[in-house]
Amino acid sequence: MADPLSRAFVVGHPIAHSRSPKIHRHWLQAHSISGSYEAIDVAPADIADFIHGLKEHGFRGGNVTIPHKEVVFGLVERRDEAAEQIGAVNTLWFEDGVLWGGNTDAHGFAANLDEHAPDWFRNGPAMVLGAGGAARAVIHALKQRAVKDIRIVNRTLSRAQELADRFGSGVTAHATAATGELSPDTGLLINTTALGMHGNEGLPADPALLPGGAIVTDIVYVPLQTPLLAAAARSGLKTVDGLGMLLYQAAPGFEHWFGKRPVVTPALRAAIVADLEAA
Ligand code: NAP
Repeated sequence: MADPLSRAFVVGHPIAHSRSPKIHRHWLQAHSISGSYEAIDVAPADIADFIHGLKEHGFRGGNVTIPHKEVVFGLVERRDEAAEQIGAVNTLWFEDGVLWGGNTDAHGFAANLDEHAPDWFRNGPAMVLGAGGAARAVIHALKQRAVKDIRIVNRTLSRAQELADRFGSGVTAHATAATGELSPDTGLLINTTALGMHGNEGLPADPALLPGGAIVTDIVYVPLQTPLLAAAARSGLKTVDGLGMLLYQAAPGFEHWFGKRPVVTPALRAAIVADLEAA
């Protein structure tokens, strides 16, 4: 039986689709740690009770996913800087008995690009498609890497404007119609909209309008090669898929709960790709 002090979880609603158990169990095995990582389905009405009962149930911490990230932000005792900036919590842990909430999505986004497109943040203006929760994490990462010109493009302009106001200087909001005119000097194109996901097929922008040296990344990873990435590759552009963001965002939580900083390896990626393909 696993040590009750080494239990972690991912909580969401629904939760069956989550790949987090596969990632963390892979690392538990790789490090020969006898801990556990469970997927727990908790409805919105019960999330506060669940969070308040964590210590009593012997959890070291866990991950928080849709639809609880914003509510849990208000339920923790302390928050890290990324969570404060993003306004949502995806990772929980105890430090001296105090429940901390952090956000590792920005770290995951940046680490994925660091691996696959080093110097990505020096590639000129960035265009962020979408203005939801994931866009906030991406913009935080861009600001942290000192990207000076960040253009948010969203179907609902008011949501893009809210984010531009939230993140301040160097961040501007644009309607979808502006995508074409912004493209010729965009060095980094990031899709954070749900467009391109299985069941939501579509192209959020035309990569053929980007300059030759542009990098295109999509944080949607089902399918792994989204229509946007496929079109960018056809235009000869550098592309980075979104699976690495998911893998890298998991590492800091594992270290909090189990005491070892895990590594994102080709074997882990292959295991999750196989799981996605089998679904
Ligand atoms: P969200 O808060 O619901 O935001 C969704 C965004 O997509 C909004 O900007 C929305 O525009 C836009 N959108 C949705 N359908 C659209 C359509 N048909 N046409 C144009 N725009 C559309 O979602 P989220 O949490 O930001 O997540 C977005 C995507 O990122 C999801 O696919 C999620 O799986 C993925 N994600 C990946 C990772 C990773 O680790 N790789 C992490 C987090 C999220 P409006 O504002 O106009 O509604």
